[in-house]
Amino acid sequence: MDWPTWAVMVPLFVIGTLFGSFFNVVGIRVPKGESVVAPRSSCSSCRHPLNAIDLLPILGWLVRGGKCHYCGERFSPIYMLGELAGGVLFATLPFLVNKPSELWIAYPLASVLLILTVSDLKYMLLPNKIIYPAMLLFVALRLVVHPLPLWQYALGFLLGGGILFGVSYMAILLRKPPMGFGDIRLMALIGLVMGVKLVLLCIFLSALLGSLIGLSLIASGKLSRKSPMPYGPFIAVAGLVAFCYGDSLMTWYVNLIT
Ligand SMILES: [Zn+2]
Repeated sequence: MDWPTWAVMVPLFVIGTLFGSFFNVVGIRVPKGESVVAPRSSCSSCRHPLNAIDLLPILGWLVRGGKCHYCGERFSPIYMLGELAGGVLFATLPFLVNKPSELWIAYPLASVLLILTVSDLKYMLLPNKIIYPAMLLFVALRLVVHPLPLWQYALGFLLGGGILFGVSYMAILLRKPPMGFGDIRLMALIGLVMGVKLVLLCIFLSALLGSLIGLSLIASGKLSRKSPMPYGPFIAVAGLVAFCYGDSLMTWYVNLIT
């Protein structure tokens, strides 16, 4: 008997929010060199330790309007968004990947990208302490699960990192702000996970997304032309889109131009 969709999605959503809540802690503490298990999270304003409801931001938002119970300070929306993204990703990934075996890649990938997004939004930093272990993990996973020949992933790694490094180098020559090394490493990681075609698509999509959102933030006055914008979240979103929809997007595009 096939399970109804909701019977798969609802439990996965709940599990995903719990993981999302943990990924928030990892993304916020690891860059500062703090332990992810101790001490308990506390309010950044009044230092009061948080209890269970506040550690689950969606619930905290519904029950307490996203404010500290003790001092009334608003929590950053990053926590709730991270938890929500965890829930949505965990619930939908089984329906988005094109091969069931790719779920072995999809869950760790979504987890790493979520942690890095939190860290980049909070500190404008994609920490090596997350990216290097993730690279090792995906090398191990890809040696076992690889729908493409292995050289595709190796070349994807070199191209992803190489192209962004080239763009950064050009930017320095043109006296424009270069990309961070974290962004270069993250794109190399995406290439390692997805192979040549999809990393090229990810570079294109992240640039498109970054320009669209950057320009609309500048047009609406929320961001000045000079102020830096974290690029990691755009790579993360573009990477997930490329991973789930890349092949259909490229088929659609080829049909469009031929
Ligand atoms: Zn407080």
